Amino acid sequence: MEEIIGEDNIDDKNNDGGKDFDEYEKICYLCHRPESKAGKMIELPQNICICADCLQKTFDTMNSNSNLDDLMKFGGMGIPGIHFMNMSDFGDMSERQKIKKKKKGEKKAAPIDLKKVPAPHQIKAMLDEYVIGQEYAKKVISVAVYNHYKRVATDTMESIEIQKSNMLMIGPTGSGKTYLVQTLARLLDVPLAITDATSLTEAGYIGDDIESVVSKLLAAADNDVEKAERGIIFIDEIDKIAKKKETRNRDVSGESVQQGLLRILEGSDVEVPVGANSKNAMVPLTTVNTRNILFICGGAFPDLDNIIKERLNKQSSIGFKADLKDKYDNDPALLEKVTLEDLREFGMIPEFLGRLPVVFTLRKLTEEMLVRILKEPKNAILKQYGKLLELDEVDLQFEEGAYEAIAKKALEKDTGARALRSIIEEFMLDIMYETPKDKNIGRVIITKEYVEKKGGPIIEPRGVPMIEAL
Ligand code: ADP
Repeated sequence: MEEIIGEDNIDDKNNDGGKDFDEYEKICYLCHRPESKAGKMIELPQNICICADCLQKTFDTMNSNSNLDDLMKFGGMGIPGIHFMNMSDFGDMSERQKIKKKKKGEKKAAPIDLKKVPAPHQIKAMLDEYVIGQEYAKKVISVAVYNHYKRVATDTMESIEIQKSNMLMIGPTGSGKTYLVQTLARLLDVPLAITDATSLTEAGYIGDDIESVVSKLLAAADNDVEKAERGIIFIDEIDKIAKKKETRNRDVSGESVQQGLLRILEGSDVEVPVGANSKNAMVPLTTVNTRNILFICGGAFPDLDNIIKERLNKQSSIGFKADLKDKYDNDPALLEKVTLEDLREFGMIPEFLGRLPVVFTLRKLTEEMLVRILKEPKNAILKQYGKLLELDEVDLQFEEGAYEAIAKKALEKDTGARALRSIIEEFMLDIMYETPKDKNIGRVIITKEYVEKKGGPIIEPRGVPMIEAL
């Protein structure tokens, strides 16, 4: 039998306060319980609702102050602990602080259908269309995601509880960590929250509470708790919460954050603020279970290569191999040799690493990969410019040398593929500005010289056929 949610709690007559309002549950302004828990709400101006219990409590308190008239004489002022409420003091309760309500008769969202979870090779094939190179990372992530959603779908495994496949992704800046996760979430059509570990601090300190990572996911899922519970959370810059070496102060943003994340990573009921980054009296709370949320942590881990190198050199300095000290200096696959020991040495605590069983690395992008990134992905940035100019009936072409020149320039900046966009934007600005002026322009060919600022692009009038030799 199909389960119908909240049917008995939600009074239909109560919901006629506007179309959009209907979709969200009302929340008591005082105790922060949603309507499905606290019962019918009394509506006050400015979208404020109060549950019957709280209203009763307020009356009781007022009645117990039998000499109310005396109090009124003073206007409540100057008497400690007494403050008369003024409705205009309340802020408007915004939509983003409300929990999405299940519509009457709406079926419980079907858990992910096992048959519909794409097989790892299909997930990888989809990723291939967008993410260039990083074959190993794509393979690992496809298998891990497949296993994760298989675990979610089967839910009650009789005797064997399948371990959560949270991931730790290590790779230099601009190698596609965030992009990989974004593409994945889009392909799987699950909500995704991207947060930065640097902003997190232990509760009570300046910064975002650890639970805020879950509230961001809730926001990405339109405050729909069930949808959020199957989403993905990407925590970037995870290397920044490494244990601080030799610190005399309390490490509120490093080791304590790792400790705080343990519970969330493993799976537990977390009370999260709705529509805010930290809990306070004015923010409603809701409970989200993180058991089926997939956590992916990513970071560049600078200096990790030195730790690995040191370990490998130590191993090889025994006996005859002692002369190979610089053997690993230019090894592009050095990061792939990472072990949990190295990560511990870096400052990640063992319990934290234990909750991220899938560890993999991304490679630094080479010139050849950057050229492919310019040309191949479905939404490649140059294709986007081509499309924009096509709307003006102008054909945008690139010389082969131009691609290489862009890639070379990007490599110099050492920020991976991130540099590509700014380089392209710089030289495309003039073209995007000038071409719409002249209706006779039919084709623009970007040359190597133009990218290197040693010459201009080739401009051809309309009606000239493209020379194939390009
Ligand atoms: P980071 O590893 O620092 O998280 P990002 O994922 O933010 O790097 O990459 C920045 C941009 O570079 C992305 O938005 C994407 O357009 C591009 N990019 C990076 N790596 C790749 C790749 N392997 N394939 C295609 N595009 C990529």
